[in-house]
Amino acid sequence: MHRLRLLILPSAVPACFVDPFMNTSQHSPTSPDPKTDPVIIVGAGLAGLCCARELQRRNIPFLLLDANAQAGGRVRTEVVDGFRLDLGFQVLQTAYPEARQQLNYGALNLRSFFPGALIRTQGRFVQMADPWRRPGRLLATLFNGIGTFADRLRLARLRWTVSTQNEDLAADSTTADFLRQDCRFSADLIQRFFRPWFAGVFLEPQLATSSRYFRFLFRIFATGDASLPTAGMGAISQQLADSLPAGCLKLSTAVTAVSPHSVQLADGQQLAAKAVVLAVDGPAAERLSQGLVKSPAACGTVCLYYAADKPPLTEPILVLNGDGQGPINNLCVVSNVVPEYAPAGQSLISVSVVGLPSEAGLEPAVRAQLTEWFGSAVASWRHLRTHRITWALPAQPAGFRNTPDSPTPASSHGLWTCGDYQQTASIHGAMLSGRLTATALAESIG
Ligand SMILES: Cc1cc2nc3c(=O)[nH]c(=O)nc-3n(C[C@H](O)[C@H](O)[C@H](O)COP(=O)(O)OP(=O)(O)OC[C@H]3O[C@@H](n4cnc5c(N)ncnc54)[C@H](O)[C@@H]3O)c2cc1C
Repeated sequence: MHRLRLLILPSAVPACFVDPFMNTSQHSPTSPDPKTDPVIIVGAGLAGLCCARELQRRNIPFLLLDANAQAGGRVRTEVVDGFRLDLGFQVLQTAYPEARQQLNYGALNLRSFFPGALIRTQGRFVQMADPWRRPGRLLATLFNGIGTFADRLRLARLRWTVSTQNEDLAADSTTADFLRQDCRFSADLIQRFFRPWFAGVFLEPQLATSSRYFRFLFRIFATGDASLPTAGMGAISQQLADSLPAGCLKLSTAVTAVSPHSVQLADGQQLAAKAVVLAVDGPAAERLSQGLVKSPAACGTVCLYYAADKPPLTEPILVLNGDGQGPINNLCVVSNVVPEYAPAGQSLISVSVVGLPSEAGLEPAVRAQLTEWFGSAVASWRHLRTHRITWALPAQPAGFRNTPDSPTPASSHGLWTCGDYQQTASIHGAMLSGRLTATALAESIG
């Protein structure tokens, strides 16, 4: 409490900010003062940060609280022995419309992946390049033995369709059905290319995710780059947090209960609020709202990081498991994309497992598969960390955007909410959700 009070000197208090930590003794949370109480946003992930930025833009006083010591929620980076480890393998798609609005890409110093993938199948690596952006690889991609020639034409048609039609107006089905029945791709192309690629994006191997969301993503992938900030994905969150007025963001501040006009902190304090926005992940939103907000099911993942003296590949490319055997779904040599992710002379390898297999024996099984792919040098790789992320993404099955639990922003029982589970399970969706909720809230309080 004292530390928090001390953080805000009167002269440093920004115009848009009223410090409720100063006010707690002056009025009780049960009698809110709409003139001075700030909007309290619980959760400083991308949704909470973008909600705060929109309130700030509209000169609405706010306070952003997060239980963690670092802002960013699921988009964070830790440094281990000089390696930059993102919280699970993730990338920024430069074509995300909301990210383009919210972020200064130049300051993030983005580095891009090769547009395409390397597919591990039947004992060899086969390249599948995006021929629109790597025309020089067209022939190699045409004759790589994956799928049929007709599949290449269907890929061109899909690319044209998603770039000219609004996916929100399209019928929704599972991505698997859409690829098989609507696009009529061969089983081979789906199995060896689409399945590992989108299992790694949706974090579910059945491709039961909404085809509307798939169409949105396919357009985004086709029109921009998959990229990483030089300082790690956490730099995205840090850039947003740094743009907020000093003193408006309180970290290491867990909220234990909320009502429409107050929040209770883990240390017992009650803070009065003009309005409360729950910008937490689905399970936390369900818990804090006492079941008024329903969390969708979760998609989990495990990410294992390894350090190597020599990179097993030279290209900045995503590697997909085309055979579907073994624990690995995809991997990449992150330091081939951004050398700064590893100390000089070393390489960082990120391995993604879709789902949450038992911890026992997972690392040896991953290493055995890596050895099969890259040979005996893998024995000298150093296992740096395993990130096991239970609530990595909200499940977004066909029709999820039409359910009453994922509405356009409105307060529910007096509580406002935002988060990726309300838009799309992505950086874009989280940012958009935060901004839209702030806009609706601002309009409702005039
Ligand atoms: C492994 C992985 C890979 C991903 N890959 C990609 C990708 O490649 N591209 C992409 O676009 N998206 C990707 N995503 C998804 C993207 O990261 C998320 O959709 C987005 O970050 C969600 O943001 P959010 O603000 O909705 O939620 P969160 O980031 O979960 O933020 C919620 C915040 O609430 C805080 N909180 C919770 N409870 C409390 C409490 N009681 N009191 C105070 N604070 C609380 C948490 O500490 C957290 O900071 C990936 C996610 C993961 C985990």
